[in-house]
Amino acid sequence: MSSSASASAPEQAAAAATESQPPVVEFRSVTKVWEPGTPRECTAIRDVTFCIEDLPNVGEMVTLIGPSGCGKSTVLNLIAAFQGTYPPTSGEILVRGRRIDGPGIDRGMIFQKYSSFPNRTVLRNVRFGLEINRERLGISETQIDSQAREWIKKVGLGGHEQKYPHQLSGGQQQRVAIARTMALKPRILLMDEPFSALDEPTRIEMQRLLVDLWTEVEATVIMVTHSIVEAVYLGDRVWLFSQGPGRIVKEFKDLPPRVPGKSPLESQKDADFLKVVDHVADEFAKVQRGGGK
Ligand code: ADP
Repeated sequence: MSSSASASAPEQAAAAATESQPPVVEFRSVTKVWEPGTPRECTAIRDVTFCIEDLPNVGEMVTLIGPSGCGKSTVLNLIAAFQGTYPPTSGEILVRGRRIDGPGIDRGMIFQKYSSFPNRTVLRNVRFGLEINRERLGISETQIDSQAREWIKKVGLGGHEQKYPHQLSGGQQQRVAIARTMALKPRILLMDEPFSALDEPTRIEMQRLLVDLWTEVEATVIMVTHSIVEAVYLGDRVWLFSQGPGRIVKEFKDLPPRVPGKSPLESQKDADFLKVVDHVADEFAKVQRGGGK
């Protein structure tokens, strides 16, 4: 599966792309079998192949949907190269043209569960990644502090710097995770159901925040979500996975464009938008019934 056709902004950027840039992420026939050779053996994904090309000056957002347990998180964890998941059982994973051998600062992950350190303030949480990567980033103590504070403001938490995670709402805690991750300017942002635990108005607010920040950082975002509405709204492309062992069975592109200045809620009420959501939901239902393979 190739990323050559996408929504309009990436398409324009693709036209300007030079041939020589390696894809951001490439899976070549990747299979992951958990606990092989044991009674608990489980093939999470089988022969997954895709390519997310590098679109200069714009990040692409790819959203992953599919039945529970079909291997979506496994795909993200493989890209992150987390210990325990990486390497795949077979196949090859390339990030910007190179085989990866472990986690890297170029890939940031945001989970569903609020992942802040409970004993650190908002400021110290956001400073954390900058501190441990200080040498690699080549930044001074003053820059650590100013960049952390800048990101706290960008995610709308200005004034909350000295609060601890337990003093924040769920949405605010996810904002801390976003600030902490984005402060490192990852080229690839991996998000595993990041807004699933939030109430609907907060989820919508977080979608708006993500679109705003993502436009600014130009990262490639790969997000797992169980919300078809969210997948269609945020995705330049939506990938539908089969029942486990997961494979990508459908790619939806040419999705309704996000209109600058138009709120997620308004956009998600549009008739054209809802038509696409219906179509994706129908295909999802086929997969759940065991068809669509
Ligand atoms: P999804 O994100 O689509 O819900 P996952 O990637 O979490 O799916 O899981 C895919 C399959 O792999 C499931 O059957 C799950 O039980 C299994 N699995 C996930 N992680 C592990 C693990 N660490 N050890 C063993 N099996 C796992």
